Amino acid sequence: MIKTLFILITLSIFIFIFFSLYNDSDFIVEMDSSNETNDPIAINETYEEHVSKLKKKLPNKKFHIIIQKPFVVIGDMPQAILESRWAKGTVKWTVENLKKSYFKKDPKSILDIWLFKDKESYRKHTKLLWGSVPDTPYGYYSPHHKVLVMNISTGGGTLVHEIVHPFMEANFPNCPPWFNEGLGSLYEQSAFKKEKIWGLTNWRLAGLKKVINKGKLPTFKKLMALNDNQFYGGDGGYSDNYAQSRYLLYYLQEKSLLRIYYIKFTKNQIEDPSGFDTLKKLLKEKDMMAFQKRWEAYVLKLKFRGS
Ligand SMILES: [Zn+2]
Repeated sequence: MIKTLFILITLSIFIFIFFSLYNDSDFIVEMDSSNETNDPIAINETYEEHVSKLKKKLPNKKFHIIIQKPFVVIGDMPQAILESRWAKGTVKWTVENLKKSYFKKDPKSILDIWLFKDKESYRKHTKLLWGSVPDTPYGYYSPHHKVLVMNISTGGGTLVHEIVHPFMEANFPNCPPWFNEGLGSLYEQSAFKKEKIWGLTNWRLAGLKKVINKGKLPTFKKLMALNDNQFYGGDGGYSDNYAQSRYLLYYLQEKSLLRIYYIKFTKNQIEDPSGFDTLKKLLKEKDMMAFQKRWEAYVLKLKFRGS
């Protein structure tokens, strides 16, 4: 029994590391956070009702549907792969571990995770189902359509990243973008370590090191206070915002402070909406500029594939 359990755990770690490493996207962009009016899906519908409606929407017979609560997973690959690798693999693993570490509440509505087998299918079916071709080649979460949409041939990292967002929405509704994207990005490359989901270094490190070396990184106070428009839009530097946020959370994770930070941040969010004062207090730091210098030196020593 213990041996079987050990083999199962080892296998699941292997599978997870495999798909994490497989995702080498150099850009993950969220989009379509448009208004939440005209809610197209009833909040109180059952999974059976939801699936029966979904069946009528399927573009062709190559698509299969798997209920993996709180999500429904739909994909145009062989049913066995959709089920074992994705629904009962990545999705189940991510949900269980995110809930164990952070989130008490499930998303309010049933959300669909659409996994398209390749670029062609992704582009064709996003246009067919939702009327437009996305500007990201990897995947996105649309709160408006209540879907997470992936070109799954790019790997599972984007899927893990996007699953963070609806859970954050349900559990930390006023979460600022730096923390939402920081946590999503942290787990886009992850493994199972110390009985938890654990972020690993990834491709965002190289870009972050460059900005640190140029001395162009904003202060944490500034980063953490950015609203959605400022964080995602502006001067095209939003990829740097993702990286800076990710490696701040990576640092907290490595110091065993991340979970406690999440708890304190959500508790103090009215008094401290950006989380900056909560961070300062948790770090017992009087001078946050001095902390940032130390953090930058720490980041410059991190390694990912030789960078
Ligand atoms: Zn994101």
